[in-house]
Amino acid sequence: MHVLSAILLLLMSLGAAAKVVLIDPGHGGEECGAVGHLEPKKKGPVFEKDLSLRLATKVKDYLGKSTTAYLTRSLDRAVSLQERADLADIVKADLFLSIHFNSSTNPASHGFEIYYLDNSSNVAANKVERAENLNLKGEELIVNQILVDLVVQQTVTHSKQLARAVHDSVRPTIASHKVTDRGVKSGLFYVLALSKRPGLLIEAGFVSNRNELQKMNQERYLDDLARSISAGVLQFIKTQK
Ligand SMILES: [Zn+2]
Repeated sequence: MHVLSAILLLLMSLGAAAKVVLIDPGHGGEECGAVGHLEPKKKGPVFEKDLSLRLATKVKDYLGKSTTAYLTRSLDRAVSLQERADLADIVKADLFLSIHFNSSTNPASHGFEIYYLDNSSNVAANKVERAENLNLKGEELIVNQILVDLVVQQTVTHSKQLARAVHDSVRPTIASHKVTDRGVKSGLFYVLALSKRPGLLIEAGFVSNRNELQKMNQERYLDDLARSISAGVLQFIKTQK
């Protein structure tokens, strides 16, 4: 082999070591996710699918500067959980970040929380899990119980570390915007299990809380949030080298 091509191959393999992150804006198309209202009757509804795409796109832009970052959707269109997970194989993702916004029947509920996949989840997480697992069919759920156990076994250590790194990075940002920190939790999210990679599901705030929705709907807040989420992911990647 020619020396130059050997060097080129080496450089290419070094480049390939850079992490690939797949960012998944929750919902899309007919599936709007949670729906919030800024002001009754004055302004139209704000959909989770739109907020998640806005935040995810910003995260991709920040991460794309030092890693290879992709989105599971860049448009307002429906993508099944399985299709999102399949994309992780197609782009050979190392990490999977699913971006969502929360909702509650209690309009006072508020705050930012981070989930990683674990099957020993608590009751409080069940509501969030139900909302985010919606577009998965019954038979898939049964088959995937086995998959979940396997994936948890293989990913939980890294997912926890990733969650801690992102949480550490996000904490001062949300505090500066007076958004409550609901911490790191475990949950049973099929999109994380199906992706078979270390990953997180971020619930970036409650669209059902008008005060919080007002903040989340601002570019500056989404931008600050995206920057700190990305910084946390990069911090995690650094510790893995
Ligand atoms: Zn969602």
